[in-house]
Amino acid sequence: MRETATGETAREALMDVRGLWVRYRRGRQTVEAVRGVDFEVRRGECLGIVGESGSGKSSLGRAVLGMEAEAASGSVKYGGLDVLRMGRAERREFRRKAQMVFQDPLGSLNPRMKIGAALGEVLKVHGVARGKEDVARRVAEWLETVELGEEYADRFPHELSGGQRQRVNLARSLCTGAEFLVADEPVSALDVSVQARILKLLKDLQRSRGITLLFIGHDLAVMKHMADRVLVMNSGEIVERGAAAEVLGHPRHEYTRELLAAVPRI
Ligand code: ADP
Ligand code: MG
Repeated sequence: MRETATGETAREALMDVRGLWVRYRRGRQTVEAVRGVDFEVRRGECLGIVGESGSGKSSLGRAVLGMEAEAASGSVKYGGLDVLRMGRAERREFRRKAQMVFQDPLGSLNPRMKIGAALGEVLKVHGVARGKEDVARRVAEWLETVELGEEYADRFPHELSGGQRQRVNLARSLCTGAEFLVADEPVSALDVSVQARILKLLKDLQRSRGITLLFIGHDLAVMKHMADRVLVMNSGEIVERGAAAEVLGHPRHEYTRELLAAVPRI
């Protein structure tokens, strides 16, 4: 929490983003994926980001986690931390507190490492658990937390279903004691039948642990269910923002109306 909190918004903001640009070089051309956006993320909320494919959602999500060192400019403040200008020690601490949940859980899990070893490594690297027994106990606890039995510690990623792998992914993101998650379309690679269960788990964990969640998605029905507030992105800019029920129930901007009217895109 900020020590210098003055007004209500300053007191509530966990992350403050000002004039954020993400520009990629592509040969001699420059792609402006995010074009000078301002917003804050309030502690404990789920802030949704919606917009059609290519509107800059993922670029924004990576940038606020400091994962676009080359391409991002502007200001991203996380408490007293300047995310775009962190030193090594700060980066390490920020990595522990702020995590990305990727869309494709298979691609982000080492295929040769058993689930227990993979989780254990994260716990050790971040100094959350030490010693064999402590690590094993924590791994088992986390597997329970994401509603997998501890026997999953002995399995390889390919032995799990997509939904189970995304549960492991969630455990991996949270086991460091993370307080801020960026979930970039976390269920869009999964069967529709498992999507709802994973989203419910994510929402439950967010609520029960007071996690602050930046939730990126294009399914507006899901967004309405998950997000407290939403930002609507179009061509790298935020064109509409506000309470999720308000924005998605009574969109003011033409682009948001079109998004709501559009058939689901693949
Ligand atoms: P979204 O997540 O909303 O689909 P992205 O942030 O992935 O949007 O992409 C926004 C724009 O930036 C697109 O034009 C995309 O092609 C481009 N882009 C994204 N990542 C890169 C990259 N690493 N290098 C070059 N261009 C990129
Ligand atoms: Mg994306």
